[in-house]
Amino acid sequence: MKLPPLPPLRHIVPIYGLQAKSQLSQNFIFDLSVTDRIVEKLGDDLDKALVIEVGPGPGSLSRSILNAGATNLVSVEKDPRFQPLLNQLADASKNRFHFLIDDMRTVEYDKILAAAGTSLSEAIKTKTYIVGNLPFAVATPMLVNWLRLCSHRVGLFQNPNNVEFLLMFQKEVGERITARPGTRSRSRISVLSQSVCDVKLTQDIPRGVFVPKPKVNAAVVRLRPSSSPVLQGCDIEALEAVLRWSFASKRKTIKNSIRSSIPEGTRILGLAGIDPDVRAETLSTEEFVRLAQICCQEGLIPVRDPEHGRP
Ligand code: SAM
Repeated sequence: MKLPPLPPLRHIVPIYGLQAKSQLSQNFIFDLSVTDRIVEKLGDDLDKALVIEVGPGPGSLSRSILNAGATNLVSVEKDPRFQPLLNQLADASKNRFHFLIDDMRTVEYDKILAAAGTSLSEAIKTKTYIVGNLPFAVATPMLVNWLRLCSHRVGLFQNPNNVEFLLMFQKEVGERITARPGTRSRSRISVLSQSVCDVKLTQDIPRGVFVPKPKVNAAVVRLRPSSSPVLQGCDIEALEAVLRWSFASKRKTIKNSIRSSIPEGTRILGLAGIDPDVRAETLSTEEFVRLAQICCQEGLIPVRDPEHGRP
């Protein structure tokens, strides 16, 4: 199910006078062969899935998603200047594409579901892909928010096995998200992401494909919430606190990093079975989860009351 021929974005974006705004991290891809290759990493069930796209801009990735057979794509774009181009795409899509002019960080998922013509009870039974060439400036906070929603099984994310993310980040961030213990890029976001999801860097994207050309290359990362997540027995917020303390100073041993936040750090590390003389980046995701569990049991982190949210 392909779109009818549409004018190349490289030609129509200048006609509409759409200069990229750096404050919205606007670096566009006009070459559909690049976005087609990104979309190849989505499943072959796009005709049955709900696809949510962050930041379509003029719509190259959206075109590729539709050409790959998506029948229900909702894109959320903050910049209203793209409305005319997105309207044209909606007209060409035969009702397969809808968009909202809104901020992905604050938009209510009910609005997205309404645009998709579905309800929450239907959507949680449907495979949902969250896709985007993310605005780099807010990409990590967006990811952390989705990890929290998956971990707490909230709303659309209450059945996280049905959700999959395919997201483009700055290459360095993509490498951090997917970094294994003991590697140079291992950091807080590696552990947090891998405590909730199976992660894979699917593709490097050279900076030369973007207009305007950013200073750094990009990478696409696939995140699939794990069917048996490592994070169990404590909240993701507890893990976030432990990671903040542990990675406070990358050159120090974990004992010295966490001592400024937990004076009895060495004892707590002992309870978690962690060698206090190693550096945080060498620890496994499971070890950090154990540390967070012990911190909760020892009353160092308030435990969330599931009925009433965080204390
Ligand atoms: N998908 C397009 C492409 O690949 O050419 C544009 C990608 S550009 C890197 C990021 C897009 O996200 C821009 O269109 C920008 O306006 C939009 N954006 C920035 N912040 C946003 C937010 N908070 N919510 C939704 N869209 C946002």
